[in-house]
Amino acid sequence: MAVQKRTSKNVLLDTALKNFYAAAEEMNLDEGLVEVLSRSERAVCVSVPVVMDDGSVRVFDGFRVQHSTVCGPAKGGLRFHPDVNLEECEALASLMTWKCSLAGIPYGGGKGGIAVDPFELSPREREMMTRTFAARVAPFIGDWTDVPAPDVNTGGPEMVWIMDTISKLRGKLEPGVVTGKPIAYWGSKGRTAATGLGVATCVLELLKTQKVDPKTATVIVQGFGNVGTYNALFLQEAGAKVVGISDITGGYYCKDGIDIKAAKAFVEAHPKRILDGYTQPGLVRMSGEEILEQECLVLSPCALEGVISEKNADKLKCKYIVEGANGPTRPDGDVILDKRGIIVVPDFLANSGGVIGSYFEWVQDLAGFFWTEEEYNNRLVPIMKDNFKRVWDYSQEHNVKMRRAAFLVAIKRVADGLKLKGFFL
Ligand code: NAD
Repeated sequence: MAVQKRTSKNVLLDTALKNFYAAAEEMNLDEGLVEVLSRSERAVCVSVPVVMDDGSVRVFDGFRVQHSTVCGPAKGGLRFHPDVNLEECEALASLMTWKCSLAGIPYGGGKGGIAVDPFELSPREREMMTRTFAARVAPFIGDWTDVPAPDVNTGGPEMVWIMDTISKLRGKLEPGVVTGKPIAYWGSKGRTAATGLGVATCVLELLKTQKVDPKTATVIVQGFGNVGTYNALFLQEAGAKVVGISDITGGYYCKDGIDIKAAKAFVEAHPKRILDGYTQPGLVRMSGEEILEQECLVLSPCALEGVISEKNADKLKCKYIVEGANGPTRPDGDVILDKRGIIVVPDFLANSGGVIGSYFEWVQDLAGFFWTEEEYNNRLVPIMKDNFKRVWDYSQEHNVKMRRAAFLVAIKRVADGLKLKGFFL
């Protein structure tokens, strides 16, 4: 009997399914495994009533999807956005399964959220909405079942409210039920820099395979927020010359290298946390599009999705791309990069330092024992190196691009686990 292929009107879910079926075919995956892994284990829809400040009642739609718990508790963010819906959560949950699998951490994939514009809510309304959502999904989340984390428009405060609500419902402290908590409240040192450190580690590992001394490498980093700043900082510390950076205010180029520490300090002191006004000898300002097209060895997009496409892929003057952002390269751009022989380290490998960092927070919460930042980094870097090597070796052995290799390696681990475990419950 042939596999009954699912399709969806939701573009994100349809794309996730198509990618999965294509990879499954390439791997010759058993039909039963394909049927199981193309569906979510569980999808929970909840209504979230909130008494608003004016006394009226509004009801929001909330979702939590657990795509797979084969490798461990479901793991993935919670987003507050008007466009959140069940299909989107399903797609993003499946991507989390593959990301956690590739990262080699003991997690499956989950995702959830509430369809709401959180900026329309007062702080009290926002807290009540978050706590009510937590209470309604309480039977399905927990440190060994499903561990949410921040995503679009959620952060430390939301995670604290969820942890506190679940702890009160269960009559005991439940720090491992969510990650992304502030350091002062069961969070972890090292998490802030983790994703950038992971991206920088992938850049350095890639250079090793190419026999390039980092001290001779030039780098351009798009985005000077959490991921981009630490990525640039670690690369500069490793001896690379970061010749370009950019943020929402445009591009900043200096052929002798940007002083990343100084630029970081400038942004931290800026009331809007932007680069506008930063200067140093030899610095040239240009547009955000232009900076991507300057000559460099490594380009590392760490800002937005879809910034490399058929419109600019043939204008890039780099040899390597290491994706810190989620989805910075569109498929039409990928085709051109492939033809030009530009090696791309894909997002769900390069930026997995974030989810590995969440795993470290959970481990510390379960143990009630906290690490220093140095211990955290010393554990993160070897894991990133191993993961990079696994994907690199697969791509070389099977003569496929790294993006494909990453997906195949990720699916294989889950499929192997599922084969051993069987389909009972
Ligand atoms: P952030 O909000 O801290 O920083 C984003 C940066 O991008 C800012 O400097 C902003 O000015 C800049 N930016 C916005 N528009 C731009 C444009 N048009 N051109 C150039 N720069 C622009 O966000 P972040 O946490 O650093 O996340 C960046 C990307 O990395 C996102 O795709 C996110 O999903 C992904 N990511 C983040 C983490 C994490 O741990 N923070 C983990 C995995 C993936």
